[in-house]
Amino acid sequence: MVLFNLNSKVALITGGNRGIGLVIAKGLAAHGAKVIINNRSLETAELAAKSLRDEGYDALPVAFDVTDKEQIEKEINHIENEVGPIDILINNAGINVRHPLLEFPESVYDNIIDVNQKGTFLMIQVVGRYMAKRNRGKIINIASMQSELGRETITPYAASKGAVKMLTRGACVELAPYNIQVNAIAPGYFKSDLTKPLVDNKEFTNWLCNRVPAGRWGNVEELQGTAVYLASKASDFVNGHIVFVDGGMLSAV
Ligand code: NDP
Repeated sequence: MVLFNLNSKVALITGGNRGIGLVIAKGLAAHGAKVIINNRSLETAELAAKSLRDEGYDALPVAFDVTDKEQIEKEINHIENEVGPIDILINNAGINVRHPLLEFPESVYDNIIDVNQKGTFLMIQVVGRYMAKRNRGKIINIASMQSELGRETITPYAASKGAVKMLTRGACVELAPYNIQVNAIAPGYFKSDLTKPLVDNKEFTNWLCNRVPAGRWGNVEELQGTAVYLASKASDFVNGHIVFVDGGMLSAV
């Protein structure tokens, strides 16, 4: 178990107040990490952090928007000086909005790229500078299986996650000399607020269950193990990889 021990590690999870982010935060905390939960609202981040503290975990809130470099720099500087060095960064914050490509509003496209792609870049850059000075760090980007598949209404989302994939590979090469490992988790279909319209759609769920070898939706808790592995010493020589957690869906296409 020593390999997966995160005692005395500080982990920052963007968009950690709900869904996949909160569950990953809980998984890291259960392995000993102090987790810092991010949301744009301090109140919301604190509510989630409190829910983890109530379960006996070490959790603190932080507020910033992942698209705002000034806010990020200010808050990361505060964490580094007042809480402790960030050992693990989980770039989880993400959005998706569905429209057919020919009618996709430009402002929505910009927003998706800003949060999913630029937000990941800014976080890697700002936190990466601190990690590089210490010569250690783990960065885990939440990509998506959708970056491998063409599907209707989510082309900008899939493109943004394709960019996250290449940010992961590029950052791996540029940061490996500083003993920083940068990997990504690419989830398939998981039940969360993001996928609620699809979960509620019986026709889609039937299609999905026939298509996924596992025959079902993923439960967000099933992402914890991969996150803990990639955040821990157990993965010290794993770098620049995209780990698909998809019930086998990609292999069946
Ligand atoms: P949710 O919609 O449940 O959560 C998204 C999180 O991102 C929320 O905490 C949200 O905050 C936060 N967020 C959005 N914009 C910003 C921003 N500008 N700054 C900071 N935080 C922000 O989604 P999931 O938990 O399902 O998804 C988490 C990640 O996993 C995303 O990157 C998503 O693309 C990816 N993913 C999800 C899959 C799934 O099947 N669910 C499949 C593949 C990938 P707020 O609560 O304030 O809105």
